[in-house]
Amino acid sequence: MKKIQMVDLKGQYEHIKEQVNSSVLNVIDSTAFINGPEVHSFQKELEEYLDVKHVIPCANGTDALQIAMMGLDLKPGDEVITADFTFAATVEVIALLQLTPVLVDVDPDSFNIDLDAIRKAITPKTKAIVPVHLFGQSAKMDEIMEIAKEHNLYVIEDNAQGIGADYTSSHGKVAKTGTIGHVASTSFFPSKNLGCYGDGGAIFTNDDDLAHTIRGIVNHGMYKRYHHDVVGVNSRLDSIQAAVLRAKLPNLDHYNNARRAAARKYNEALKGIENIITPKISGNTCNTHKDVICDTCNCHVFHQYTLRVVDTDRDALVKHLNDNGIPCGVYYPIPLHSQKAYRDDRYNEADFPVTNQLIKEVISLPMHTELDDEQIGFITKTIIDFVNS
Ligand SMILES: *Cc1c(COP(=O)(O)O)cnc(C)c1O
Repeated sequence: MKKIQMVDLKGQYEHIKEQVNSSVLNVIDSTAFINGPEVHSFQKELEEYLDVKHVIPCANGTDALQIAMMGLDLKPGDEVITADFTFAATVEVIALLQLTPVLVDVDPDSFNIDLDAIRKAITPKTKAIVPVHLFGQSAKMDEIMEIAKEHNLYVIEDNAQGIGADYTSSHGKVAKTGTIGHVASTSFFPSKNLGCYGDGGAIFTNDDDLAHTIRGIVNHGMYKRYHHDVVGVNSRLDSIQAAVLRAKLPNLDHYNNARRAAARKYNEALKGIENIITPKISGNTCNTHKDVICDTCNCHVFHQYTLRVVDTDRDALVKHLNDNGIPCGVYYPIPLHSQKAYRDDRYNEADFPVTNQLIKEVISLPMHTELDDEQIGFITKTIIDFVNS
């Protein structure tokens, strides 16, 4: 059996090696390292793939979130609601911009931001909601857009884990995650579903004025050379990374299908095993295929395949897997509201029952495009042996 890895970037590279190597060498040959034609072409190709009017490439997914927020007319002290159970980047940029993060609980099935918790958290100071499409599954965008409309709030989608996923609205309209809110961010960190070979990120929007504002912000607030109209940042996707992304983008659906196929095999092998809860596809994401992982739609792109282990020592399972040569991850082990940097008297433990439970139960299994049946069989057998012992 091939050695099991959490993410197999080398195996994936082998399939696209010739193309990646020649495009990277072309960039070096051209010396157009910054804002070269590769960046422009990638931007156009991603706009087309997502069916969104504007993609603005930038240096990483954290910058993308920050810049998206800088582009909106938010003022210090404005409240921004986001999920308690996610990667810290989301809350970090809110705090950095001197906005007030308002962390709320998540849904136990989808792990995504809970709608009632959003409604409960809205005050006259609330200005935006940041849903995170966690682990590759869309948050409930219909309802979130409705809440936002009712209260005149911006919706900023953190799509770092969801690129390529489809969201089916209650009217049956299918749209890519990251094209539904006012603005969205994504990351091209190597292990993300569309990863480059270094750092990279992008902002998406269908709003022409906002896109114009953001294009200036990423480039020192310049709209005309050496005229600085707003305080901006320097955040660029470099041409070598764009060349890698151009080689990978045509394969993104294939990559996401491979992830989904692996998830389906994990689900089948672990179905009905006591104390193991396999990932759920939540209803509104995919109206036709509730609770099963279908092969006909892109409703979940499995950035992570995350189990809940209940009434079982999760950390002992982690150790058992590691002892058997199986890497795994705990995303995320600490709720954001309990992190030293983000603790606040405003938070009440009783408002986070789901996150407080999930951090004890979740375990993410190896998930990438190169997993084979033998590896999946070995991983699931090792888990079943543990829970049965
Ligand atoms: C990876 C990630 C980010 C940050 O992306 P970087 O490119 O690492 O800065 C932000 N939000 C979420 C949910 C992520 O998973």
